[in-house]
Amino acid sequence: MSEPQEELTSAAQAVSPPPLTSLGPDVEFRLDLAFPRLSDEILQRLGSYGQEEFIPKDTCLYTYGDRDTDMLVILSGEIESRLLVKGGGFKIFRSLCAGEFTGELNVLNTQRSIAEARTTSASRLLRISRRNLRALMRAEGDIANIVVSACIWRRIGMIGDPSTGIILRGCSDNPDLLSLRRFLVRNFYPYRIEELPTNDEPGTGLAATEMPQIELLDGRVLVRPAICDLADELGITEFPEPHTIYDVAVVGAGPAGLAAAVYAASEGLSTIVIEGNAPGGQAGTSSKIENYLGFPTGVSGAQLASRGHLQALKFGVHFAIARDVVSTAQVDGLHRLILAGGAVVCARSVVIASGARYRRLNVKNHEDFENRGLYYAATAMESLLCCEREIIVVGGGNSAGQASIFLSSIARHVHHIIRGTSLESTMSQYLISRIERSPQITLYTNTEIDGLEGKAALEFVTWANRKTGESVRRPISNVFVMIGAEPNSGWVYGAVKLDDKGFVLTGGQSGFEATSYATSVPGIYAVGDVRAESVKRVASAVGEGSVVISNIHRYLAKRRLDFPEQASSKELR
Ligand SMILES: Cc1cc2nc3c(=O)[nH]c(=O)nc-3n(C[C@H](O)[C@H](O)[C@H](O)COP(=O)(O)OP(=O)(O)OC[C@H]3O[C@@H](n4cnc5c(N)ncnc54)[C@H](O)[C@@H]3O)c2cc1C
Repeated sequence: MSEPQEELTSAAQAVSPPPLTSLGPDVEFRLDLAFPRLSDEILQRLGSYGQEEFIPKDTCLYTYGDRDTDMLVILSGEIESRLLVKGGGFKIFRSLCAGEFTGELNVLNTQRSIAEARTTSASRLLRISRRNLRALMRAEGDIANIVVSACIWRRIGMIGDPSTGIILRGCSDNPDLLSLRRFLVRNFYPYRIEELPTNDEPGTGLAATEMPQIELLDGRVLVRPAICDLADELGITEFPEPHTIYDVAVVGAGPAGLAAAVYAASEGLSTIVIEGNAPGGQAGTSSKIENYLGFPTGVSGAQLASRGHLQALKFGVHFAIARDVVSTAQVDGLHRLILAGGAVVCARSVVIASGARYRRLNVKNHEDFENRGLYYAATAMESLLCCEREIIVVGGGNSAGQASIFLSSIARHVHHIIRGTSLESTMSQYLISRIERSPQITLYTNTEIDGLEGKAALEFVTWANRKTGESVRRPISNVFVMIGAEPNSGWVYGAVKLDDKGFVLTGGQSGFEATSYATSVPGIYAVGDVRAESVKRVASAVGEGSVVISNIHRYLAKRRLDFPEQASSKELR
């Protein structure tokens, strides 16, 4: 099974508990959960959310590429759900009959549809508009769970169907292929890998300059696409609704932003999340989080993120994906966020949840090897690069400890390098004990990496003990750097007060509201890793994201009468 399926499966379990035969990672597509037949009682309740329509046979209700599709419940007749396959034809995914409904993840988000729906007989349908679907999701919890679970299982089915999905072509350890793949996985987009060796011998593979390639279903080939271009091409990019003034705009969809969004939307606030890449944030790059409450055997960051993302969709959160916010300003008390590319989001309040990014290695040519031997995450995807090889992990914090332990089960040996004299003050004791006990891991204290060498990718690494001066050079092609993070606060520079390291000041420190998460600007709050003095952990990010919404309720209650209902051209300009 491909990775997006695993993450979705985990999310499907969250919204629809599996039967006693618990679903494992090798789960089969569950047709019964993907296409539930709604009971008469549910159909009756749905009546007040939709409008009946009579549609003739062979009518296209929506097709591949359409956005903002409504949900259609079949009262009588039949609809075929079809998938576009390579070459531009369609194959039947499912024939839906009375009591079933159309749609998959695209009814919950505003991304382009990857399926088509067409009547195959004259049909009586209940059309539930997106707006009404959102109201339904909030008011009718049991129906919401059936719909969300079905949407997830349908996407699982689509991802697992070998005849559909775009083709990602190249060498699986090519760094650019890895980052495109990561983007597709984290956005649940169906794809297949076609392994092609890079080979300079004519006729044996693609030249490195032509890799990776993406073959779209219509046969077009994109060579080394940038992530935002790919997102636009596939319709993964989501835009804000023009003229809407959101109650809350959350910037960043890491644990803090997703938690803020779930709480805001579930409490009736119109909410948008703007995310520059894909939901999950740093947590999405963690192989296993073992200290988050409720997961006794740990949970991968990607699974946690996909659950949070889908939960937010269920409550009607609007996502604007694959575009960074580049600046913020206030116009007549409203907050105006400018996205890369120029789109504008207007909101009555803003939650800064843009987190942090990994600190780079202090070696002058480190950029030459980023994603070509230097990695800042250690997920299942990166672990594929370590089989039977010696690798290096750098850093004294928990993320480095987890990476060492995780990778030591795959790599031949892990050289764990730290600058400090011990791990005691920076790493949790359970991780220290495991590192000490592992024959697969050697810890080097007082040590730093001095040299990185290689042509197209990393080949040799030199490290030196600062106390003894002893230096070691070994053939190593994978280094995992986990030496802390810098805040993603460039986009609020000059707009809110920051500390000397660039973290956002809040509460008493900011000179504004005494509430813990208020920044120096009324209506702008900061949570999670980007906030000065926050505890850099998933649980605290989630906690802060959840709690900040009560601050926002109070703020909005005081100010509601001051705000216009719709954004005027002045705010949108
Ligand atoms: C490898 C690794 C393992 C870890 N393991 C653990 C663990 O086991 N337990 C634990 O408790 N913690 C762990 N952590 C720490 C934990 O992941 C972070 O504390 C947590 O993710 C912080 O959440 P956040 O939402 O504040 O920010 P982030 O997770 O950093 O998310 C911020 C999001 O904002 C987006 N963004 C940034 N700037 C912009 C912009 N201008 N516009 C739009 N979007 C933007 C980013 O793309 C990102 O998705 C780990 C971290 C790493 C890197």
